[in-house]
Order: sequence, then structure tokens, then C-alpha cells
Amino acid sequence: MKHLMFSFGLNAVRLLRLDRLLSSHTQGLGAILMLHHVRPFTAQNFVPNRLLEITPEFLDELLALVRARGFEIISMDEVPERICHPKPASPFVAITLDDGYADLVQHALPVFKKHQAAFTAYITTGFADGTAPLWWLDLEFAIQKMDFISLEMDGIKFDYNIQNDYKKTTAFKAIYWRLRNSPECFLRKVIVALAKQAGFDPLNSTRQLCLNWDGIRALAKEPLATIGAHTLTHPMLAKHEPAFAKDEIERSKAIIARETGKDILHFAYPVGDKTSAAQRDFTVAKTARFATAVTTRPGMIFAEHADHLHALPRLSINGLFQNTRDMDTLLSGVPFAFFNRGQKLNVN
Ligand SMILES: [Zn+2]
Repeated sequence: MKHLMFSFGLNAVRLLRLDRLLSSHTQGLGAILMLHHVRPFTAQNFVPNRLLEITPEFLDELLALVRARGFEIISMDEVPERICHPKPASPFVAITLDDGYADLVQHALPVFKKHQAAFTAYITTGFADGTAPLWWLDLEFAIQKMDFISLEMDGIKFDYNIQNDYKKTTAFKAIYWRLRNSPECFLRKVIVALAKQAGFDPLNSTRQLCLNWDGIRALAKEPLATIGAHTLTHPMLAKHEPAFAKDEIERSKAIIARETGKDILHFAYPVGDKTSAAQRDFTVAKTARFATAVTTRPGMIFAEHADHLHALPRLSINGLFQNTRDMDTLLSGVPFAFFNRGQKLNVN
């Protein structure tokens, strides 16, 4: 439903030619693009995390489109300067990839090299260690594997008959959002229980899909790559005590710096929406001497972000919208102006 509404909104913006009429007001200084997996398309019906993956072919088209529309592709290192001393005639795009997946090296890096496009990879140390679960993928795998699941959540027993892809998708959405809105310890307990029912180790997906430290050290040596931090265990920081959040932010910076031999100056808040990263976390990232920190709140970058370099919005490259027509509309900034009700800042 959300997908349909979004699609309808993009078409409406295009039909009314709002992207052409308003982009000079809504595009701002540019955008920070957010990607997750870059890998070949798999023809399956039940892929509820599909929005988190794009194909290498689409990445290739996207980089060509960005340049054709006059955006300069810059590294996150250059972003603070471009916000504090704007060049409005030359909008920028910075490309970021979260979590540190191995497909970045296998499928995205060759495309970045082809276009000589800088990018930033945000690393979660527990994914590189193979000790932190990719819980949203474990939920998908558990539902994929089983025909029936039984769960207790908030003292209520839920039985899901998930014998076809439609029922699997419905159950995924129901359980996913219940977990996203719950305390983190509860979420992790449910995932462990589900993986047990389905008969797999919840850390298998981490070990199969994420770069280990050798991979990260090699990536850090690539001239186009900047390495950033994405916590120790990928928690929704705002749901935790201050000392926990501080440790996740500060220690991930120190560990990645030690492993790569580089100063780590950029941070991404896991999950990154309002319920996962808020004012307190922005202050911790600033105090930890990161130059920038990015959320997943949607929006373009404006000069007004100069005072909010640790609460920067991003433009999510959604795997359900892998076409240059929708990307063109998004890069106009018009959909975000509507989403943010005309406000340039969404930082509280
Ligand atoms: Zn993440």
C-alpha cells in the first residue's frame, strides 16, 4: 500500500510537471544517496527486503543519470565544505552504502570504477566479526523456510499459516513492524526463537553476506572508497541508554580505525529513522569527532544543514523503484519537499 502511494505520488509529481517547475527551490545543494545490496536480480516472489537491493546494471544507469543531470559525485569527506560554502550552480551527490556487504566489492565496485565515482561504505564491526545478526534477513529466511510459525509477542500467542508467498509477505510485514516498534532485546529474542524453529544459525547470513576484516582492509585501500562507521551491533540507538549508544558510536569508530589504519570521520545511524536516531545520538556522534553523520530521514541537502552535519538526510535508492524516470523525479527534490511539508530541515 505504501509502495502504491509512493508510486502514485511520483507519477503525480511528473504529470503535473512539478519536478520541472519546483526543482530550483527543492533540489537544494544536492543529495546523499543511500544503498544497501548491489547484486544481480533473483526471480522470486517472496523477497520482502527487495527494497534494500539494486542491480549492478541499475547502479550503472543511476551514475550516468546523476552526471547527465549535472550533479558532481563527491566523497563524504567533501560534503561539510560543500554545505558550509555552497556552490548552488553545481549540485552534488554523495553515494553511501550501509552495513558492509560483500556484494559491494563484487558487484558495485566495478561500476564505481567504471564511472570513477567516489563512495562511502559504513561498516558495522559485529557484521565484519560475524557476531551480530542481520535480523531483518533472518526474519525473511525463517518465513521463507517454514509453512507455519508460532510466536509469543507481548504475552499474546500468534500462529501464522504461511504456506504461500502472499501469506508469507503478510506475516513478514506484521512481525517486522511489531519488532521494529518493540524494545531491541525483545526483537533479538524473537529472531533467535524463529531461527531455532526454522533450524538455522542466525549468524549464517552475516558470515555469508558481509565483508570480513580482510575484505574491509582491501576496500579501504581503494582510492574511490571512504570507510565510515555504523556501530558495533546495528542497534536502534535511540531505544537504548545513553552509555550504550555512546559505546556503540565511539568504539566502532576506534575499532574500524585500528583495523584499516584510517581516521574514521563519517557515521551512519542504523535503521536511522526518527525512532532509531534522535537528538541525543546526533550530539554523541558530534562529540565523538565525526565530521558527518547520516540518518535515513528522507530529504535533500540545504545550506541550512551547516548547523546539523550530524543529522543529514538521505535519498534512499529503493530496489522497488529501479528506473531512471523515478530517480529523475526524486533528484528534483519535489517528493521530499512534500514529505517534509516544505521544511528544509527535519532534525528534531
Ligand atoms: Zn544498516
